[in-house]
Amino acid sequence: MLIIGPHLSIAGGFKKAGEEALKINANTFQFFTRNPRGGKAKAIDEKDVAGLKTIMDNQGFGPLLAHAPYTLNMCSAKPETREFARMIFKDDLMRLEELPCELYNFHPGSHTGQGVEKGIEWIAEILNDEMWADQKTMVVLETMSGKGTEIGRNFEELKLIIDRVNLKEKMGICLDTCHVYSGGYDVVGNLDGVLEEFDRVIGLDYLKCIHLNDSMMPFGSNKDRHEKIGFGTLGVEAFKRIVTHPQLKSLPFFLETPQENTLDYKKEIDLLRSF
Ligand code: FE
Ligand code: FE
Ligand code: ZN
Repeated sequence: MLIIGPHLSIAGGFKKAGEEALKINANTFQFFTRNPRGGKAKAIDEKDVAGLKTIMDNQGFGPLLAHAPYTLNMCSAKPETREFARMIFKDDLMRLEELPCELYNFHPGSHTGQGVEKGIEWIAEILNDEMWADQKTMVVLETMSGKGTEIGRNFEELKLIIDRVNLKEKMGICLDTCHVYSGGYDVVGNLDGVLEEFDRVIGLDYLKCIHLNDSMMPFGSNKDRHEKIGFGTLGVEAFKRIVTHPQLKSLPFFLETPQENTLDYKKEIDLLRSF
């Protein structure tokens, strides 16, 4: 059974997000841990969380994915930006201990001119300071499209981060199909080759989840603009190969495609399930 769901708002609570997922044939979802721009997180309501947990148990949900705010930049040249990122990262990890969610995805960040090596040092420093050995959460780095000074534009940069982290068993990768395609990995024409390269550079054991997005931008453009499944430069056949690939099909898939409202995800989920 394919594990798939969209990005959902938790503004109305976790239980409500679980109910919304059910309505659109999803068996997981992704959510922002707080306002995507990085505001204060809402207090956790235990009853609400228990309600989601019941839905997940009864309906056989796969793992949920928490996404850190976009403003979190662990490797900025500005110390106050790095400290803000550290605070959010730590607070998110502690809150996740109370939630039925084992995966926490964040963007490695932008080095803002200091160079990749320095940026990776900053990222690893925060991860090593703030992660702890028996934490419940797996921290996953997202593959990025490589715009500006973004770190994580290729598998090598992500591998360099993992290399510097002490708790490697708590680290993973989230592969974003839109980002890697615009980053120059041909998941349309040569999916097997890309996965072989991933395995050689990082190791497929580190691959924990997939962001399933089509792209508005051409191959190798380093531009990050998501498109609905089948309406972009990747195309529907590429997604058929991705969700049925023997090395991918049992991973959780998360849609971050642009939709008018949540119910519109049902079409995409039903299509992907039909494969
Ligand atoms: Fe992301
Ligand atoms: Fe993504
Ligand atoms: Zn994106």
